[in-house]
Amino acid sequence: MNSSKLYVTCPACGKRLCRAVPGSELEQDCPKCQSLVLVQVDPDGKVSTKIIDTKTAS
Ligand SMILES: [Zn+2]
Repeated sequence: MNSSKLYVTCPACGKRLCRAVPGSELEQDCPKCQSLVLVQVDPDGKVSTKIIDTKTAS
């Protein structure tokens, strides 16, 4: 089976966030560390993640 779905993990804490398909771009909140993560998957299936907002602990 040739699945093109990829798992996206939080770059800050390693929590598995969601699945993505090649060519997609999405924003995902991490439920564990509350970081807002920008996820980009290029057409080759290379996943890049970037934290674009971090909620500091109160
Ligand atoms: Zn996280």
